[in-house]
Amino acid sequence: MSDHDLVIVGGGPAGMMAGLLFARAGVKTLVLEKHGDFLRDFRGDTVHPSTMDLMDQLGLLDRFLERPHEKVQTLGGRAAGRVFTIADFSHLPVRAPFIAMMPQWEFLNFLADEARRYPTFTLRMNAEAVGLEMAGKHAVGARLADGSVCNAKLVIAADGRRSVLRGAAKLPLKDLGAPIDVLWFRLPRRPTDPSVTGGTFGPGTLVVQINRGDYWQCAYVVPKGAAETLRAAGMEQMRRNIATASPQLAEAAETLTAWDQLKLLSVSLDRLERWSMPGLLAIGDAAHAMSPVGGVGINLAIQDAVAAANILAEPLERGAAVDDLLVKVEERRMLPTRVIQGMQRTIHDQLLKPLVSGQINFDQAPLPMRLLNRFPLLQRIPARLVGMGIRREHIRSPDAFR
Ligand SMILES: Cc1cc2nc3c(=O)[nH]c(=O)nc-3n(C[C@H](O)[C@H](O)[C@H](O)COP(=O)(O)OP(=O)(O)OC[C@H]3O[C@@H](n4cnc5c(N)ncnc54)[C@H](O)[C@@H]3O)c2cc1C
Repeated sequence: MSDHDLVIVGGGPAGMMAGLLFARAGVKTLVLEKHGDFLRDFRGDTVHPSTMDLMDQLGLLDRFLERPHEKVQTLGGRAAGRVFTIADFSHLPVRAPFIAMMPQWEFLNFLADEARRYPTFTLRMNAEAVGLEMAGKHAVGARLADGSVCNAKLVIAADGRRSVLRGAAKLPLKDLGAPIDVLWFRLPRRPTDPSVTGGTFGPGTLVVQINRGDYWQCAYVVPKGAAETLRAAGMEQMRRNIATASPQLAEAAETLTAWDQLKLLSVSLDRLERWSMPGLLAIGDAAHAMSPVGGVGINLAIQDAVAAANILAEPLERGAAVDDLLVKVEERRMLPTRVIQGMQRTIHDQLLKPLVSGQINFDQAPLPMRLLNRFPLLQRIPARLVGMGIRREHIRSPDAFR
């Protein structure tokens, strides 16, 4: 006898969105999150137009937009001292045609608050899963660090790119490799600074600057494993590197005085070759770890959650067996995963790896950037890819409480 119909391990974007949708469909849902709150290192604060469109379909968009956020309408880049616009979201056919930059804890708290409206939803914080509870070859629950077991008819692994559950299930993993790591840090932003969010191609690196109002959230791209060498070279050198890569940040970079102001975020790119086994389904980064390139991992994770609920929520609620349906989620979501990861890999290998290893230098902007800047109509293509994704999901899972 299961305590819940569904246990979701991981309260990130994939897990919280799945929790909301399954609970809304009347499925008795338990979400387990290992941390005590949603305050995390920066892991992407982007909420895409496609996600806000889903909020709109759920009737939640107005409430969502009441939470603090900044609107990013265009994405740009700087190279060889010139500014380029490469994506323009304003033409997307949705009510919120922009990227909302919202701290991830705000977004996750929002999803949790909305999910709590349903009596079928339970969220347990400080609840770390350490393995699967098995009955023969069938997963029947999650085992927790405190020794307890949460049983359910279905377990969803939404525990991110270092997923314990996908390891426990021995689901086959294909590592696509990632030649870069990223250093994240904040720098003060003056009201007179340019407002554009985008990347600057400097000698040996790309520095991404995300406009967060009174500060810049910055990403400094380094070769995989090279952060230790940079650290050994000292903070003075690091400030010089930033100023050389992006001269407009030279003054702000002086505020970096201690290495703990910079966070090393190791980039991975991989995917499971099979996303499920009887009783278990992996979604989000647990099924396919995404690179930060393009800022699309959250979008994909949310879309996986919607597809899973569309396919599984109704049968799960009426008590039907769902094992044979699990593969349908993978079939639905594998194409967008492959396409987006393929593009990330191309950008890693053709652009970022040669850039950070000093093989190429941009004395002028890369050709695609120049073309996009020259022909504004073309800017709708990256806007559509980043903002809406591929094979966009619509909410089809029922609302059992309406
Ligand atoms: C440096 C970096 C920057 C990025 N920037 C962006 C960006 O700007 N935009 C974007 O869209 N994407 C970005 N991404 C990718 C994005 O972070 C992921 O694709 C996205 O967060 C995946 O969501 P998820 O819910 O699948 O996993 P996660 O966000 O990783 O969430 C997993 C959750 O599970 C919890 N958990 C883990 N293990 C357990 C356990 N054993 N028991 C219980 N809970 C557990 C974790 O605490 C976490 O809350 C970035 C990635 C990196 C590495």
